[in-house]
Amino acid sequence: LAFLDRLPKAELHAHLNGSIPLPLLQELAQEYLSAPTIATANADALSTPVVAADVISGLQLLKAGVILDRIDDFFGLFPAIYALTSTPAALRRATRGVLSHFLDGASGAVAYIELRTTPRETPGVMTRREYLEAVLDEVEARAPDAAALIVSLDRRMERAVAQEVLVLAMELRREGRRVVGVDLCGDPKAGNMEDFVELFRTARAEGLGVTLHIAETRENSAAETVKLLSCEPQRLGHATFLDDQAKELVLARRTCIEICLTSNILCKTVERLEDHHIRYYLERNHPIAVCTDDILPFRNSVLAEYALLMAPKPVGLGLSESEIETVARMGMQSRFPNPTP
Ligand code: 5GP
Repeated sequence: LAFLDRLPKAELHAHLNGSIPLPLLQELAQEYLSAPTIATANADALSTPVVAADVISGLQLLKAGVILDRIDDFFGLFPAIYALTSTPAALRRATRGVLSHFLDGASGAVAYIELRTTPRETPGVMTRREYLEAVLDEVEARAPDAAALIVSLDRRMERAVAQEVLVLAMELRREGRRVVGVDLCGDPKAGNMEDFVELFRTARAEGLGVTLHIAETRENSAAETVKLLSCEPQRLGHATFLDDQAKELVLARRTCIEICLTSNILCKTVERLEDHHIRYYLERNHPIAVCTDDILPFRNSVLAEYALLMAPKPVGLGLSESEIETVARMGMQSRFPNPTP
């Protein structure tokens, strides 16, 4: 593991609320449960109202280890977490904890992280701008060559909200804040991609990096994939079920694929590591970035993901040290340009 530890690695696909270290989440839960005044504060369009009992059962589930039957079950985990990160102070702590996990981790620290998050408003407590400012304050407390922010648009957002979030990302970037890109995430079954594509084209024209969760499940149609690829994203999240035509385009454009091995196996979108699409891209020397996605439910780490590359088959992919060096370099090279260093 010393070899893997020493490699300069970039974490390019980590969702803030899915990456809170469990001990910190437990602290936030204790405080939340002793302050019932904020118990219903997260009445946000993206989260169902949560009561204290939901937080307790959510925490118990995360402590015991999440076992998912299918990817659909995954998104139900977030309302309980969201209840705990619905104030600027809690968000700051969560962000600090996540950055510290990735950048200061006793083993497996990464050289660079692009953290991503979906701004939520908590009525009467926090606007979406304040959400992003709280996260950015913590990101910017780190060296410019260590951390940056990607602003996520959730597929469940109404068009007006998605547009508001994009405008916020562009404004903050113009103000010199460390926003390097935008992302499309959330339940793969939700949303009208027609609306989103236009927004992502605007983001590209503004100079923001664009990464899209795409073809994450078998049910995501080829037509949707074509539509999403039409806004020429520089990176793609998962991209598990691209058809031959989409793969051809991705290969021709050298679009980086953000690979989340453990996430795909635990969400059961890929049955076994041997079947994982990482192999297709490795064989073609195509840019990939090995990422964790959500360390809180998946209990993985960047080092563990790299260990999967190294471990002999069938447990791992059996890559050589020089192949793994190439993969790590691809990740570092796929960072979105950061205008602020
Ligand atoms: P947040 O954006 O609130 O900081 O992080 C949690 C959110 O990220 C979830 O509510 C979900 O929308 C999104 N997310 C996390 N993991 C995944 C994933 O594997 N696939 C998709 N499509 N979205 C995800």
